[in-house]
Amino acid sequence: MKKAHVCPKCSARKIWLIEPFRLVDDTLAGQPVAVVAHQTDGAGSFFRVPRREPKGVVDLYVCAACGYSEMWARDIEGLVEDPSRGVRLLDATGAHEGPFR
Ligand SMILES: [Zn+2]
Repeated sequence: MKKAHVCPKCSARKIWLIEPFRLVDDTLAGQPVAVVAHQTDGAGSFFRVPRREPKGVVDLYVCAACGYSEMWARDIEGLVEDPSRGVRLLDATGAHEGPFR
């Protein structure tokens, strides 16, 4: 859908692109959806409290005919693993390099 601009469900060729996807808030512009809203800048000392530092944004592709939607993340280079807060990197790189290829 992102590359071909064709809906994978109904084959329509009119796709709405909303970039970045935003949630309604009190502002006219709305709040962009972050990929990870709760990451911190890693700081945290006696004098400095860690600041919330949202990472990544999400673009939304919506089929104009059937409404099927896909979200695509970008600007995710700064993501940091934090399993205790639900952020994990599932890395299958090299998973097929065993004796059972
Ligand atoms: Zn469709």
